[in-house]
Amino acid sequence: LPDTEEGNEETENRPKRTKQEKRPTPRRGEARRRTGKLTISQALNEEERVRSLASVRRARERERRSQQTQPQEAIKIVRDVVVPEVITVQELANRMAERGVEVIRSLMKLGVMVTLQQTIDADTAELIVSEYGHNIRRVSEADVEIGFKGKDDAEEDLLSRPPIVTVMGHVDHGKTSLLDAFRSTDVVGGEAGGITQHIGAYQVELASGDKITFIDTPGHEAFTQMRSRGANITDIVVLVVAADDGVMPQTIEAIDHAKAAAVPIIIAINKMDRPNADPKRIHNELLQHDIVVEQLGGEILAVEVSATEKKNLEKLEEAILLQAEILELKANPKRSAEGIILEANLETGRGAVGTLLIQRGTLNLGDILVAGGEWGRVRVMSNCFKQNVQKAGPGEPIEVMGLGSTPIAGDDFAVVDSEARAREITEFRTRRSRVQRSTAKSRGTIDQMFSEIESGELQELPLVIKADTHGSVEAISASLKKIGTDEVGVQILHSGVGGINESDISLAKASAGLVMGFNVRANAQAKDMSDREGVNIQYYSIIYNLIDDIRDMLSGMLAPESRETFLGNAEIL
Ligand code: GDP
Ligand code: MG
Repeated sequence: LPDTEEGNEETENRPKRTKQEKRPTPRRGEARRRTGKLTISQALNEEERVRSLASVRRARERERRSQQTQPQEAIKIVRDVVVPEVITVQELANRMAERGVEVIRSLMKLGVMVTLQQTIDADTAELIVSEYGHNIRRVSEADVEIGFKGKDDAEEDLLSRPPIVTVMGHVDHGKTSLLDAFRSTDVVGGEAGGITQHIGAYQVELASGDKITFIDTPGHEAFTQMRSRGANITDIVVLVVAADDGVMPQTIEAIDHAKAAAVPIIIAINKMDRPNADPKRIHNELLQHDIVVEQLGGEILAVEVSATEKKNLEKLEEAILLQAEILELKANPKRSAEGIILEANLETGRGAVGTLLIQRGTLNLGDILVAGGEWGRVRVMSNCFKQNVQKAGPGEPIEVMGLGSTPIAGDDFAVVDSEARAREITEFRTRRSRVQRSTAKSRGTIDQMFSEIESGELQELPLVIKADTHGSVEAISASLKKIGTDEVGVQILHSGVGGINESDISLAKASAGLVMGFNVRANAQAKDMSDREGVNIQYYSIIYNLIDDIRDMLSGMLAPESRETFLGNAEIL
């Protein structure tokens, strides 16, 4: 037994001992043993002592250095770095727990010159993150908005909601009069009398208890503009046609806008009290625009009314409610509110005031609201009769005070459950719009100008001319005016004597024009500004060169040259 114990000890200890021996001696003995060579200098003891001193120092230095770097590498943690579509360098560094300057240095190596506060895109960030050995988790900007608009409602939660109606039609056919007449039929406000309409939408409660929400959009352009922002809020379009005037250009436009939005139309043939009213003529005229009214065997309801005499208004309301029934308009009132900003203004003494249309859910006083890039707590809420209310349900237009600033009409809004969440979403949106703005900045270069001319957006070349003398200013202006044709020409925004200054740049910027300097230069601030704003400055000292260049630009405008170089055919397999 003792024998085996000893043996065990020995076999256990032997490798340990050799390790211990090896560790402190890699400097000299080890190296020498490994090379197996014995040089003359090594053989001479004196020489060796001198050398070893230096090598000891070197080894210590090496050790010291390795101690500095090794612990860092040892505790290096591979992180999951969440990167959105754009991120500031500082934020990226923070998320990787690296120093900002190091990240900037790495970016420089990639040829990306940025400061800490500047943003880089996710592709660039990915290169950096992998260079530091972290894992990237790319998230879309929109990911923050997940859950902003709540889930779809369950069928059993849905209750019918009031229809949202937009009134359209040719000017002076009686849109405003009709809306006013409707308002007077409201069981509450109508009786109170003298309602001052102060918001761009209102709800009418009929004697039957049914409600209709009218949106007071000035014309179909606003309707389409809202739609282009993704705010398809209108359920039904009431198209007003004056019985004595018939289908007019804006009537046709309104039809096309409503059709493009796939919103059902109800025809209100107005001014039926007029002696020359002829509804049959209207029916036939509408037929030419594919509007087949009921009277002609079609599907489209047409009601003959008089706004000023308040005749047949209830028939029109019935038609709206009938159409609404067909559409089965439903919403869940028992959830947090969501909807659309109809309009928003900054009012003195009241702050940001927004008119909201609730599409689903119920908005309560004190709710935290995110609308576009703004958020706030609902402090005061009032209905279209200027009455303060505690809550508002689906289909209701409501005026809200308490937002931080004014959102944009057509923005959607939703209630979120915390201020932190509100901040998170709005900060993301602000950042996104800042990026969009900064990318849209480089306007006004000659190339872009040409593309605007090509697309017919620009028929005039806007110029700011600065020269050294009055004589040259006049000579240049006179010659430039002469070279224009009736299709394209120069538009002299401003001309004057003296150096090019910031005001010249801002003027050119606002009109997306060029700045021409004749025998004058731009001052430093103007130069900076032109770089920043992407405004082009051209310098000349020979008047003919200036004229020739402008002529070339104008002729370039007249005939944008398109060249095609045929490279070959390919077939997609
Ligand atoms: P809008 O431009 O479509 O908003 O039209 P308005 O509502 O401003 O009406 C234009 C003009 O038509 C006004 O002078 C109204 O008094 C008049 N008007 C509107 N509806 C009627 C109606 O039913 N009968 C008559 N006789 N005039 C009307
Ligand atoms: Mg009007």
